[in-house]
Formats: sequence, C-alpha cells, structure tokens
Amino acid sequence: ATARTPLMAGNWKMNLDHHAATHFVQKLAWTLKDAKHDFSAVEVAVLPPFTDLRSVQTLVDADKLELVYGAQDVSAHLSGAYTGEISPVFLAKLGATYVAVGHSERRQYHHEDDALVAAKAKSAFSQGVVPIVCVGEGLDVRKAGDQVAYTLAQLEGSIAGLTEEEAAQVVIAYEPVWAIGTGEVATPEDAQEVCGAIRGKLAELYTDAVAAAVRVLYGGSVKSGNVASIMAKPDVDGALIGGASLDAEEFAKIVRYQ
Ligand code: PEP
Repeated sequence: ATARTPLMAGNWKMNLDHHAATHFVQKLAWTLKDAKHDFSAVEVAVLPPFTDLRSVQTLVDADKLELVYGAQDVSAHLSGAYTGEISPVFLAKLGATYVAVGHSERRQYHHEDDALVAAKAKSAFSQGVVPIVCVGEGLDVRKAGDQVAYTLAQLEGSIAGLTEEEAAQVVIAYEPVWAIGTGEVATPEDAQEVCGAIRGKLAELYTDAVAAAVRVLYGGSVKSGNVASIMAKPDVDGALIGGASLDAEEFAKIVRYQ
C-alpha cells in the first residue's frame, strides 16, 4: 500500500566463490524468468563477496539481466594507503547499485561504530552507490524492551551527515542481531514496531517526504515461509536475506512472496 518499490537483497556473506556465483546467478535468473518475475514490482539484488563482482557484472551485462548487485562493505576513503580496503570508486566501476554498511557482523567482528558506518554511507553516495545501512539491537536490549530507543540512536549516528537528497535514497535494514542466522525470526509485529519507528525518526531528522520515500527492510532469518506476513506490514519495504539467499530456488520464492 505504498509507492515504494520493495527490495529483496541477498547477503551472501563469505559464501560462493566466483565460479559458484556464476552458476548461482544464472540459476536465479532462469528461475525468476520462468516465474515471469516483474522486476519493476519487486527489485532483486545480490550482495556477493568482492571477488565475485566482476563475474556477476559480466553475466548481468551479457544476458541483460534486470537483477542488480552490490557489495557487503566499502571503505570510507576513495583511495590511498588503506591496505585491504575496497573503494566505492571500484564498486561504481563494477556497476554496483548497492552496498551494505554497518552489518552487525562488521560491527561485532570489526568494531565498526556508527561514525564509521556514516562515513562509509557518505563515501558510497559520493560515487552513486546506494548504501543499505544496517541497524538493530542485540538480545540483551530486546529483553530489556529498549529495542526502539536503541535502534533509533544507532540509526541517527549511522546516517549522520547525509544530505536530504541522500537520505531520500538511502535504504535502511532493520536487523535485530538475535534474529540473524539463528532461525529465530522477529514477529511481523516486532518488525513493524521498529521499522515504523525508523520511518518516524527519518521524518523527524529530515522531512515527511524523505520518510515516505525510504525503503526500510527487515532482516533476520527470513525464509519463503515467513516473508509474506512480514511484508504485509505497512513499514516493511523488503528484506535483507542471509542464509536463505544462498539457495536460488528458495531466494526466488522469497522474492515472489505475494
Ligand atoms: C543477514 O546477514 O543480513 C541476515 C539477515 O542473515 P539471515 O537471513 O541468515 O538471518
């Protein structure tokens, strides 16, 4: 019931090398083609490891696939002495549409804080790559009932410095950490509570028009069997899918949730 085009994004994490990626993307494309998937109705993205991007780009270009792709992280810098980092300039050159920033696994294992996540979002936008900014509370916060306040504070810090024009294009992924890779999915009501609060915060920080334009995704153990009830909620505009995005047929079913 919104003008926002839903986005289904598969976060492959550190899975599928470039050979496997080629097979996977072909299988996904065939499956969606057989199902006559309308990509203008539900946008489909894959976020492979960096080393797969060139292969995915070649396939998408050669077969004129409507599927889009992106990366799982990006540097806050454009070039220079940052060993091991990947510039948004490189991602743009490989045709990346999106990049996830601030995924909970980056925050946890690489100690990324909100300021760094915001700098990464800025650097992505500077090259025309749209950041998918990930936020969400851990189990202790959820148990204390503080999920809304916690997530909104994280959101504010993680998009600090975005212009109004950038904010209108950003994608936010609400991913409660306790639901990621655990099989424990948030209820549709839990997802709506925080996704709705995120939209409210965007209206407060920017404008009602920005809040109405931004896609807010839910992430955390999304599968074909639970996606429809979550997508039925008014402030959920898509999903970020980890484990279940590694099976082309299952991911295609999630994409075609209606
Ligand atoms: C994720 O890593 O973004 C994620 C949502 O993982 P999973 O779907 O496996 O819970």
